[in-house]
Amino acid sequence: MEPFPAGLDRTRDGVQRLTAEPVSSRTVDLHLHSTASDGELAPEDVVARAKAAGLSAIALTDHDTLDGVPPAITTGAEQGVRVISGCEFSVSATWGEMHVLGYFLPLDDPKLQVFLRERQTDRLQRGRDMVAKLQGIGLTLQIDDVLVEAGTGVIGRPHVARALVRLGHAANLNDAFDRYVGWARPGYVAKRLPTLSEVAALVHSVGGLVSAAHLKDRGTKTVLSGLKGQGLDAVETRHPSHDPDTRARLTDLAGELGLLRTGGSDWHGDNATPSPYAALGSQAVPFEWLERLEAARDVERIHHSSAEQAWA
Ligand SMILES: [Zn+2]
Ligand SMILES: [Zn+2]
Repeated sequence: MEPFPAGLDRTRDGVQRLTAEPVSSRTVDLHLHSTASDGELAPEDVVARAKAAGLSAIALTDHDTLDGVPPAITTGAEQGVRVISGCEFSVSATWGEMHVLGYFLPLDDPKLQVFLRERQTDRLQRGRDMVAKLQGIGLTLQIDDVLVEAGTGVIGRPHVARALVRLGHAANLNDAFDRYVGWARPGYVAKRLPTLSEVAALVHSVGGLVSAAHLKDRGTKTVLSGLKGQGLDAVETRHPSHDPDTRARLTDLAGELGLLRTGGSDWHGDNATPSPYAALGSQAVPFEWLERLEAARDVERIHHSSAEQAWA
């Protein structure tokens, strides 16, 4: 699928150019979900779709889990798509909740695994609390109905929404969010959230980087410089919810504040809602952005190892 209408070259953050330079042949997608959390396709199938879309690398960034990464890496090795180990964390923010993408995460780090298991336990409890609230307004729904939707994946609100649709309480997923599980709706329950400082310190300690996801209008200079002070390395400039003005503003601020850029489709599958979701690969993120992240990560690892030696 063409990422943008033919004839409209928007490869540089929505700024239309007059000359039809070829789009960089190598693009990546650094924000994707699978059935390891609330996506619709198995990790292997997400990689196959990335291959079909012509991407050279992806980051699998399921919510609060790395469980989808090993099968994705295996399939990626077979199909020639590089897979970056990622995770989307939820952290507290002055406005409530913020999502942070962690990249280059090791699969076998005990403290990272303990942290993720705690988040997953919180999510299960939240699912139970949401079901209790929905029962409280008269809906017939059990936690098992939600668990069926989640399968082996980490529980999220879309699983509650899917159960509501399946049981006839909502017409479709958007309707389920609008009436029952969206923010401030009768079935909504807030997550218990770690701070960005906590997540950034953990990710840095294992050699990874953190990027603020889909900040939209929240991404002001004041907010971003505050987040940088808490350990933020990058900002997601390209996301389906970012219009060209938002992209341009975040791009300028990233440059000004010395933050790296990331981007991705936040694809959850072809039928996923709530919108806006765009096609896998649609954000046309240049491969060079991934290279810059890797370079920064290497510098950080050297810092960490020399700090460790200093303390040894
Ligand atoms: Zn998110
Ligand atoms: Zn996401």
